[in-house]
Amino acid sequence: MAGRDPYYLLTPGPLTTSAETKQAMLHDWGSRDQEIIKATRRIGDALLAIAGAQSAHVCIPLQGSGTFAVEAALGTLIPGEGPRNEKALVLVNGAYGRRMAKILDVMGRPCVTMETAEDTPPSAAEVDGILSGDGKISHVICVHCETTSGILNPLGEIAGVVADHKRGLIIDAMSSFGALPLNAAEVQFDAVVASSNKCLEGVPGLGFVIARRSVMEAAAGNAHSLSLDLYEQWRMMEANGQWRFTPPTHVIKAFEAALDQFDNEGGRAERHRRYAENRDILVGGMREMGFETFLPDSRQAPIIVTFLMPADPKFDFTDFHDGLKARGFVIYPGKLTGRQTFRMGCIGHLAAAEMNAAVEAVRDTMAAMGVKSGAA
Ligand SMILES: *Cc1c(COP(=O)(O)O)cnc(C)c1O
Repeated sequence: MAGRDPYYLLTPGPLTTSAETKQAMLHDWGSRDQEIIKATRRIGDALLAIAGAQSAHVCIPLQGSGTFAVEAALGTLIPGEGPRNEKALVLVNGAYGRRMAKILDVMGRPCVTMETAEDTPPSAAEVDGILSGDGKISHVICVHCETTSGILNPLGEIAGVVADHKRGLIIDAMSSFGALPLNAAEVQFDAVVASSNKCLEGVPGLGFVIARRSVMEAAAGNAHSLSLDLYEQWRMMEANGQWRFTPPTHVIKAFEAALDQFDNEGGRAERHRRYAENRDILVGGMREMGFETFLPDSRQAPIIVTFLMPADPKFDFTDFHDGLKARGFVIYPGKLTGRQTFRMGCIGHLAAAEMNAAVEAVRDTMAAMGVKSGAA
């Protein structure tokens, strides 16, 4: 794929993008230019198509990183404390689930959490029990792939339980959207939130929410914030195709180009295949050197892999990180509570050749540090 410039990002985002995507940014458009309005429409249509959500949902883009879109979705779709005393249930098995509970807390929106260990997916049966016992829970909020560990959560089963109880479901699909299967025909949801710079391989700067139209229509006046009011953003875009505040014009054009490449590559299924191959090359190569994964293969999504820190006292993470960076690959520290780990991503504009080169770079760096095995 594209040459490294200045290095390949094996991280949870931003990620390595193609030369074409970067090229698409080399112009200065005005915010009301038809080119930007057209690109915004094309992006929205493409995202709805990826989610199989063209009939009952709308797509609302928003400036900022993914968390801004999550905060806008929660603030706009989860009503504040009202006469019905409703609350949200957040499923937590990592930092991103925890962050959503914190966002609700900061906004003063009532919420409860159901927490499982970072290597343990939430159980749909347990969610079923909680919803049966508490009629005041209006929404369930969950993370599809919890990027903290790289674990794949059982979205389909949870969505089924939430739909049976006729509650709303809000999904943080930030690190999975565009690669892992998520189709509105199979998974009933009120809203899915993701961003430009993960599996869709755009540059960072915008998030988006795919929300059920009827849910948006009922959301007027809910938002806790002026600029993160998803309802108002939606109304303005429906009315004249424009963003409420300065649009990230270069990001929009890059995202449009990235989505064209996504289609040309073969869409979601092909992206999933490429990322799964990337993961398999990475995990296979690392295991050959003795490294151990935090998750069993059955729970490991093809997004990012958490490795246990090697036990050899000669292994120093900063040296390892810097050695890999000097060889053209940037990796990420761990994010688990209470366990020494590091993470290597398998998403972005990378394929087998780059992943094989990454494994070789690890081998070289280990040799340079005098570490014989990656065993924990
Ligand atoms: C990346 C990510 C986010 C958003 O993070 P930002 O740094 O705000 O872009 C949210 N949830 C998950 C699961 C993510 O992987």
